[in-house]
Order: sequence, then C-alpha cells, then structure tokens
Amino acid sequence: MSLSSWKNREKIQIFNTRVDNVSFQEAKEILQEFLLEEKLHRIYTPNTEIVMEAKKDPRLSQIVNSADLVVADGIGLVIGSKLRNHPLKERVTGYDLSMYLLEYAQKQDVSVFLLGAAPGVGEMAKKNLRELYPKLTIAGTQNGYFKGTHTGFENSEEEAAIVEKINESGAEILFVGLGFPKQELWIEANKENLRNVRVVIGNGGVIDILGGVNKRAPQIFIDWNLEWFYRLITNPSRIKRQMAIPKFLLKIMQDKNSVLEVKKETGGNNE
Ligand code: UDP
Repeated sequence: MSLSSWKNREKIQIFNTRVDNVSFQEAKEILQEFLLEEKLHRIYTPNTEIVMEAKKDPRLSQIVNSADLVVADGIGLVIGSKLRNHPLKERVTGYDLSMYLLEYAQKQDVSVFLLGAAPGVGEMAKKNLRELYPKLTIAGTQNGYFKGTHTGFENSEEEAAIVEKINESGAEILFVGLGFPKQELWIEANKENLRNVRVVIGNGGVIDILGGVNKRAPQIFIDWNLEWFYRLITNPSRIKRQMAIPKFLLKIMQDKNSVLEVKKETGGNNE
C-alpha cells in the first residue's frame, strides 16, 4: 500500500493520545515508506501508563500526537479500545518494531545509532547485535546520562555535541531509549537538528534488552497477552506501576468519550 493511503489512516484517540490503528504488518510497511523519504519521521510507542500521563499533561499528548506513527504498545490500550467499541487492530510493540528496523537496516545497508541506557550498555548491545545481525552497521552508541533536554538542561553544549556525533555517524535510524517522557522530550527538542536520520523511535528499554541487561518476557507470556504479569512476578516492586492497567480500564468505563475515532488527514506535523 502506498504512503498516500497511509496518510488517511484511522486514528483512535484514547483520552488525549492519538494512536494509529495499524497491525504490526501495516506498521512495518509504513516504516519502509518512511525510510525511503529524505526527512525525519518520529515513531512513538505509548502504553497505558503513558496515555495516563499524557491525560494529565497536554504538552506530552501534543508531542506524541504530532508524531508520524504512534503504535499501541500495551495490551491495556487494546482492551480499552474494545470496551468502547473502537477496537485497535492489535498491540504493536516498540520492541518488535525496533527488531524489524534492525533487520531492515542489515538488509538495506542502512546504519543505526543507539542513544540511551546506562554507560556501557549500548556497547554491549552493539556486540550482541554483531552475532544476531552480522552485516548490520551500528554507527555509534551514546549513553543516556548526559546534560540534555531530557534531564532538564535545554540547549546544553553536551547535547549539541551528541547531536553532532549522531549526524557525523551517518545513521539513518536512531533508537532513543531514555524512558517516557524523557525520550519524547529529547526528540522534540532535537528533531530539527538531526540531519541524516529518517526514522527515530522512542523505544524505552529496548537498548537494555539488546545489551542483555534486561530480558524480554518468554514468548508464551507475550502470546497470551501476559507480558505485564511476567514483569510483575519477576519484579514485584512494579506493582504500583502495574496498577495503572486496571485503573486505566476503570477510567475508560467511566467516561463515554474516553475512546474516539479520528480521521487523520496528514502523515505527521512536518508536512
Ligand atoms: N535512561 C537513560 N537516561 C535517563 C533515564 C533513563 O538513558 O536519564 C534509560 C534507562 O537506562 C533505560 C531506559 O532509559 O535503559 C528506560 O528507562 P526507565 O526504565 O526509567 O523507563 P521506563 O521503562 O520506566 O519507561
């Protein structure tokens, strides 16, 4: 399907956050189209917690809504959309989209830059990726603990130097794993200065997984939509965060306008 038809793709608004109603397959096709266009495309992957945060903070929802592709990375969002009869096709995770981008990058000889995670993790990810994708070029890595917009320092020299490092690396795909909302704020502040990047994805803990610092849930939990449960049993201190899903579903039920269908006219705000 051509990009022009994607520009009219359906969006589902959940509270203040607009999510593209796309399947994983469709999201991959959209990414392919983005990678052929010589301009920056922003990809965000909100989950239930993020939608709840954006509900309280219009600046965050505005940033997410202005992206070129927003996928529902949380089973809570899919269930919530169904409860209000505007069903999202499926959960599309930032992890799966990121893995697809790596495959694409290897095949098309496009390089990738990893920004985020603790010092050393990006390098470990690069090493592990060498085994997974021997022909993939990781053009550079940069840990996420520097003076930058995401940590409250706007226009810092350190941030400008990192943007330059990304530009000089020639990377066309940029992973930004700083957690929400840090990664979205960082991308928003620097989007005009990223010269070669065609796809930037805010993908949370993906670099940690690639670096072997965190594990993804076993496939069976993912297939049964129980990834949240796996996270809970392996890290019980997440209980407070996990409560976001039932609270979210309750709020969906209490507000008849919590989920709306939106027709999208353009493919992002930079058109
Ligand atoms: N992170 C970072 N810089 C920061 C804060 C977080 O690079 O200033 C990284 C962190 O090391 C991890 C990723 O962002 O790799 C996700 O962080 P966190 O677990 O806080 O995010 P969440 O999964 O809660 O969205």
